[in-house]
Amino acid sequence: MSLMFSSPVVTPALGSFTFSSRPRSNYIVMSAVRSNSASTCPILTKFQKDCATPTPYLRNVANAIADDMRDGLAVEGGGDLEMILTFVDALPSGNEEGLFYALDLGGTNFRVRSVQLGGKKERVLATESEQISISQKLMIGTSEELFGFIASKLASFVAKEKPGRCLLEEGRKRELGFTFSFPVKQTSIDSGTLSKWTKGFKVSGMEGKNVVACLNEAMEAHGLDMRVSALVNDGVGTLAGARYWDEDVMVGVILGTGTNACYVEQKHAIPKLRSKSSSGTTIINTEWGGFSKILPQTIFDLEMDETSLNPGEHLYEKMISGMYLGEIVRRVLLHMCETSDLFGHSTPAKLSTPLALRTEHLCKMQEDNTDDLRDVGSILYDFLDVEANMNARRRVVEVCDTVVKRGGRLAGAGIVAILEKIEKDTKRMGSGKRTVVAMDGALYEKYPQYRQYMQDALVELLGHKLASHVAIKHTKDVSGLGAALLAATNSIY
Ligand code: ADP
Ligand code: MG
Repeated sequence: MSLMFSSPVVTPALGSFTFSSRPRSNYIVMSAVRSNSASTCPILTKFQKDCATPTPYLRNVANAIADDMRDGLAVEGGGDLEMILTFVDALPSGNEEGLFYALDLGGTNFRVRSVQLGGKKERVLATESEQISISQKLMIGTSEELFGFIASKLASFVAKEKPGRCLLEEGRKRELGFTFSFPVKQTSIDSGTLSKWTKGFKVSGMEGKNVVACLNEAMEAHGLDMRVSALVNDGVGTLAGARYWDEDVMVGVILGTGTNACYVEQKHAIPKLRSKSSSGTTIINTEWGGFSKILPQTIFDLEMDETSLNPGEHLYEKMISGMYLGEIVRRVLLHMCETSDLFGHSTPAKLSTPLALRTEHLCKMQEDNTDDLRDVGSILYDFLDVEANMNARRRVVEVCDTVVKRGGRLAGAGIVAILEKIEKDTKRMGSGKRTVVAMDGALYEKYPQYRQYMQDALVELLGHKLASHVAIKHTKDVSGLGAALLAATNSIY
């Protein structure tokens, strides 16, 4: 259990990235590796060509995402991006007070958090959190099993509370902000039905059901005196949590196992919002992972997509998010192994095993500074059973770089589409106003090359002038705080 007192949760090592000067490339090592690999490999050359995202192409991608955003705002299901109305009109002000909870479900782990809020001056008086991993079995089991497990862990989290630190006002139920990071059709701030599972989840009997009711029922069954006050996703949570510390935050982006983005939209720019008041702003959950047009799909992407749990869908997510990058590389290496003798003559069983190579491995291989690419060699040996000579190791790093470059650049194009949409309606950057993209997710946090490619694409597409008013701020784990804050904003008391 971690304990943290009122401080903005910005990782010091990454902090915030602004575009005031031309980003420098930090790939000296990579370039050295590349310049040595003179011998050509037709598969690699073709793969690099198929994955290429030169600026004009990237511009088309950004425009296509922007078109789908507009279509999704016009009518329900108008474009690939669902542009979901989140019912979050008011972002945290800083005045929130009391004890609130957050539950974050959306990937390999779920997180529970309690936050004691002390208002404008004192902000976060105390917060405690716990992370619990979700087994593969639960990810594809029944909704009773999944929510029963979560409710039981929530109950033991509450049972461990130290009375002096967590103060619930008398006569109140505990209130929870539920971060549920799957496509949800939101019906109010505290209800919504699951549209479809993503990211490897396939819990039976859930699609079309109210996820809040599922959790409330499970909590009741476990004798837990708690209710869901706000249903959000991790993008909204990140945006809300980051906004609590910085009022220039306009966008929340997640780049982890999956990906998503949310932003502050002007109500008058949302035709499908059939409400009387068209003044003010509201948060739109883009579900941008669903974008599936004009992407540089290779045969390896196609094959991976066909074997995925949601074939034909979420193609953008499958090119830019952490769950898939390692798997794409594995498929390319398998093909290289089968069609050339780069890795010896036989194909090791592990190399044919789906998900044997993870995005973390790509990152480690790209970070290898040793003369003989020793770390690349051992990762290939340990995880794929491949014995790779120097030439093969270099090739592997190039494959990783190709996939990561494409992913990072495409992610950058998505952010540009959102920033340009905001700019069109508000002209804030044009008038010199700082505009912050709050970013969370281990892929962004831990993969420097990915980050750099994303930033390069952003500047290429936005231009230096506009980009100089944009800051990408790594706001690690603020989505829990954001969800708790939104539970406070939407408290029934
Ligand atoms: P989640 O998205 O599940 O909420 P995270 O934000 O922690 O959780 O993201 C986890 C994902 O980030 C992993 O699935 C993996 O793809 C990616 N990742 C984790 N560690 C690294 C790393 N060291 N380098 C690159 N990617 C990583
Ligand atoms: Mg996450």
